[in-house]
Amino acid sequence: FSAGNVARAKDDKEPWWKESMERLRNIGISAHIDSGKTTLTERILYYTGRIHEIHEVRGKDGVGAKMDSMDLEREKGITIQSAATYCTWKDYQINIIDTPGHVDFTIEVERALRVLDGAILVLCSVGGVQSQSITVDRQMRRYEVPRLAFINKLDRMGADPWKVLNQARSKLRHHSAAVQVPIGLEENFQGLIDLVRLKAYYFHGSSGEKVVAEEIPADMEAIVAERRRELIETVSEVDDKLAEVFLNDEPISSADLEGVQTLLDGVLSYLPCPIEVSNCALDQTKNEEKVMLPGTPDGPLVALAFKLEEGRFGQLTYLRVYEGVIRKGDFMVNINTGKKIKVPRLVRMHSDEMEDIQEAHAGQIVAVFGVDCASGDTFTNGSVKYTMTSMNVPEPVMSLA
Ligand code: GDP
Repeated sequence: FSAGNVARAKDDKEPWWKESMERLRNIGISAHIDSGKTTLTERILYYTGRIHEIHEVRGKDGVGAKMDSMDLEREKGITIQSAATYCTWKDYQINIIDTPGHVDFTIEVERALRVLDGAILVLCSVGGVQSQSITVDRQMRRYEVPRLAFINKLDRMGADPWKVLNQARSKLRHHSAAVQVPIGLEENFQGLIDLVRLKAYYFHGSSGEKVVAEEIPADMEAIVAERRRELIETVSEVDDKLAEVFLNDEPISSADLEGVQTLLDGVLSYLPCPIEVSNCALDQTKNEEKVMLPGTPDGPLVALAFKLEEGRFGQLTYLRVYEGVIRKGDFMVNINTGKKIKVPRLVRMHSDEMEDIQEAHAGQIVAVFGVDCASGDTFTNGSVKYTMTSMNVPEPVMSLA
């Protein structure tokens, strides 16, 4: 979102923001309690270089040696629990927005879901689809949040990912297919076969930190063929283009993968970027008539305050920008109160540090300091009087496990 992007736009036919919008994902991670949401979040932040140590490898040679454990605890705790954090994976920015574990359709839950463009639903391969999995999934369905199911704990006693996949179909009515097949289960769990790349990935080390890519073992060729056919069939029903990619039997070239990194690839491939999601606002000058927002940085600013937090430096307001650009020093109007305010300081959360930024465009999640408002208020540049609705407009939903 730098000035460099703007300069480049002069010679390009594509709008200056297109690439940075396409390389952005706003996701939440949801799960039944104890399914492994914290562990997964921690690993995503670890493998993308945002935190420097994970539980199981603590104290082992080399990892996290530069930081003492107090710092690490603080860094990790704050990063994982913050309302929004981000990481970078293959030149994509992934904003991870905290989704409250409430069981009800509270206004707090509505707002958290409102700002997501996609989500990961963690399903434990022992517990399967549980009561809270059904609740959070129902909430996401209602708010039209596309989701990717992540089945974990394949190394646990009683792990049965195929049962969980069937439960996702029957209990959650997901249009699901596996994109990976486990090699062994429970204490024999050794790795995964990627049905897209047609490679076997074996994990080594106590946290599976070392990954070796090999050919598919002969005794697994039949199940791989069967599950791959199922995947192609499932995907073809909803997406012709994607079906072509899968139908092409050439393996997609890729560097070696590690654990959740495949999941992150899935986030990039299967979850939408902000311009692929329709967003709707209510025009306060026209009796709350619905207006579709193009969702680009070219339009007038429209941003929603979705979370307030008391921080070390005063009240921090998290905003999701839906349209236009928010800049430090600009004036904006709180449509719910009519108050005009100046944006004093704009930050991006980086662990417990904040990074001051000058501007953020449509699609981004940012935090502002010293803005007196309530959660749920909508800000614009004053040229339009829109408020954000809590609902997205329906999009086709597909889930891949
Ligand atoms: P949350 O309540 O959903 O945040 O769950 P946690 O991340 O705290 O995980 C619950 C328990 O499951 C913890 O003891 C984790 O160490 C454990 N756990 C999480 N993922 C895995 C996994 O893939 N394999 C195994 N064996 N244990 C896991």
